Amino acid sequence: MRLSRYFLPILRDTPKDAEIASHRLMLRAGMIRQEAAGIYSFLPLGLRVLKRIEQIVREEQNRAGAIELLMPTIQLAELWRTSGRYDAYGPEMLRIKDQRGRELLYGPTNEDMITDIFRNFVRTYRELPKILYHIQWKFRDEIRPRFGVMRGREFLMKDAYSFDLDEAAARLSYNKMFVAYLRTFARMGLKAIPMRAETGPIGGDLSHEFLILAETGESAVYCNRDVLNLPVPGADVDYDADLTPYIRPWTQFYAATEDVHDPARFEHEVPPEKRLHTRGIEVGQIFYFGTKYSDPMQAYVAGPDGMRRPVHGGSYGVGVSRLVAAIIEAFHDDAGIKWPEPVAPFKTIVLNLRQGDGATDAASEGLYQALSHRGVEVLYHDLDERQGAKFAVADLIGIPWQVMVGPRGLAEGKVEVKSRADGSQELMTPAAAIDRLAG
Ligand code: ATP
Ligand code: MG
Repeated sequence: MRLSRYFLPILRDTPKDAEIASHRLMLRAGMIRQEAAGIYSFLPLGLRVLKRIEQIVREEQNRAGAIELLMPTIQLAELWRTSGRYDAYGPEMLRIKDQRGRELLYGPTNEDMITDIFRNFVRTYRELPKILYHIQWKFRDEIRPRFGVMRGREFLMKDAYSFDLDEAAARLSYNKMFVAYLRTFARMGLKAIPMRAETGPIGGDLSHEFLILAETGESAVYCNRDVLNLPVPGADVDYDADLTPYIRPWTQFYAATEDVHDPARFEHEVPPEKRLHTRGIEVGQIFYFGTKYSDPMQAYVAGPDGMRRPVHGGSYGVGVSRLVAAIIEAFHDDAGIKWPEPVAPFKTIVLNLRQGDGATDAASEGLYQALSHRGVEVLYHDLDERQGAKFAVADLIGIPWQVMVGPRGLAEGKVEVKSRADGSQELMTPAAAIDRLAG
């Protein structure tokens, strides 16, 4: 992509009302624009990151055996009455009427709808287990939307729902999602820690929140420092095998959010030098809730004995749009964002340091073409701007590799390749740079 043809509305000034780094940087880097309180457009650069995060979430859901579908954003109030949640949910639910006077709502979550789909099509235990998921926009009329897409009113969520014959089987599904979450966040470069959590309006008796530690996080957390160094299961993990050996290390250490924190247990279990009390950003949550929805909605399946019984369920959310901000909170410096490669909007930016000079234009153009042909996502800064301004933009938008093409280097047949992550720089020939970046 040539910057001269792209749409990258960089802000010169720091937006005043943005309180945390990720919000400031997303606005300055031209990733998002606020349309109303808690409601954002994703501009092209922001959308690229959102899509990459979404794809990692999708791949890990699929790997764990979950199956993707797509439910609508708009739901019937009637459906929510069958589960008894319409009145219980409260003012966060956006309630709408269509022109026929029918009561609708913009979905804040989908347990009711997926249970309705399930009960329509599934009759017997032979079709179980099933985990279905979608990646869809949600609306929650949060009282205090803030921090940009971190706490929006409209936000993108992956929500999965499991269906099993009994509690023992449901716990196996829960474990699959637990492991899938460990892998999902690790692939984005994040250390997300599963913590025992309250179940809230989703209901149920078993739940973990996955949090990344950050001073700007909204949740207070308590944990044993050793959880920060635990191994994450590899891509070859067998989801049909017993997953408890992967999960046990994570649950044996104390890790809890404030809501369920037990100070006496914390002090008893965690030696003083291992105690960590800090803040975190919730990027996902998993629940087992048994028959909370299948009971009232009569989602029954026949067991091996022919007896019909309510199916056991769980639900599993990931905050896809929140993750864009959470990753920035974890990876930035004073100059801007430092995208981990797996979620970066582009892998490389080519900076033509003397636009209009025959030699640097030709070398930059050649690099841009060659990298594109080799399948590298590359942004070519081809605007007529000062070198310093180009460096600043490249640092701000955080593309992992910067290739600087200037007359001084070219005199020796070299370009400079700089890593945004650690600032290290290396001179090499254009051919070597192409091999390095396309490798
Ligand atoms: P929170 O406690 O942050 O309000 P929640 O516990 O109500 O979130 P869940 O129902 O667990 O949210 O939703 C699953 C995931 O969706 C959360 O872990 C979070 O990452 C994301 N999420 C929830 N609310 C928002 C929001 N208002 N804006 C952006 N992401 C959100
Ligand atoms: Mg939650």
